[in-house]
Amino acid sequence: MKAPPFEWHRPATLAEAVATLAAVAPQDGRVLAGGQSLLPAMALRIARPPHLVDINGIAELGAWGVEGDALRIGALVRHVAFQRPAAPGPLGALMATMVRHIAHWPIRTRGSFGGSLCHADPASEWPLLAVVMGAEMRAVSARGERRLAASAFLRGPLETALAADEILAGVTVPLLPADARWGFEEVARRAGDFAQAMALVVLRQDALGRIAEARIGIGGVEAVPRRLASVEAMVTGRVPSAALFEEAGRTAAAACEPMEDAGYRRALVRAVVSRALGSASSQRALAA
Ligand SMILES: Cc1cc2nc3c(=O)[nH]c(=O)nc-3n(C[C@H](O)[C@H](O)[C@H](O)COP(=O)(O)OP(=O)(O)OC[C@H]3O[C@@H](n4cnc5c(N)ncnc54)[C@H](O)[C@@H]3O)c2cc1C
Repeated sequence: MKAPPFEWHRPATLAEAVATLAAVAPQDGRVLAGGQSLLPAMALRIARPPHLVDINGIAELGAWGVEGDALRIGALVRHVAFQRPAAPGPLGALMATMVRHIAHWPIRTRGSFGGSLCHADPASEWPLLAVVMGAEMRAVSARGERRLAASAFLRGPLETALAADEILAGVTVPLLPADARWGFEEVARRAGDFAQAMALVVLRQDALGRIAEARIGIGGVEAVPRRLASVEAMVTGRVPSAALFEEAGRTAAAACEPMEDAGYRRALVRAVVSRALGSASSQRALAA
């Protein structure tokens, strides 16, 4: 199916893009990034924006690299960029694992990191990463610039804190220390499908092997991905064991509030949280 008619704006700079968006946003003008979510929605007539501000020609949005203690990712960096570690240490390896769960290769070559966050599908991998890692989003408009924490940026299914005239320019993800261990587990109906449930765990252990710090997040189940503070508190100070992972899985299942299929999704949460903890704690840290 073809998309409904629209006017195609192709700014060459971010300043030009925000000026164009400011002019067309009141008529439901939208940003076009990789088009892997927006164009199917237009073909299905779920969205009919009369103006598209295509950001694909803006070089600065396609750059990424490590600056200081963080990975800075331009909004237009394609998913495939993360197939090889984009950052040193555990963060690069973690992202290289997560990206393989995003759709299929052709979609990964066009779909963008920022587009995934702006689309805010609760079953997408990058929003979960952003929340668990405490990423910061840089939103730019003709009115200026502001920075938002990922947890404030993601508001609900397909809903973010971005105003209609704002463009997500980039995302800053703090690097993980070399002794951090991580585990990512996802259940999807078929390879490349959106997640029915996923869990991301990042752990640090003390000299005695006890869990000194834990970040445990789930996605694909609730309206937005989130960290489970009660499960993090429960495992902290404990020595990893199969019994502890099972208890954490049960606690996570009880703590989550699925949008649908509550019994089934809770069972998935129990499994993915317990497995992600197991794979994190059995991983060899880079510098233990
Ligand atoms: C068959 C299929 C399977 C998929 N499976 C998965 C999957 O398993 N996991 C997953 O995470 N994703 C999946 N996707 C979605 C894919 O990752 C998309 O690339 C992503 O959701 C949107 O990125 P995009 O660059 O294509 O954005 P677009 O489609 O161009 O835009 C999406 C939305 O975000 C807005 N937007 C985009 N960029 C910006 C920006 N910089 N500033 C402001 N607004 C912006 C657009 O206006 C639009 O509303 C799948 C897609 C398809 C077609």
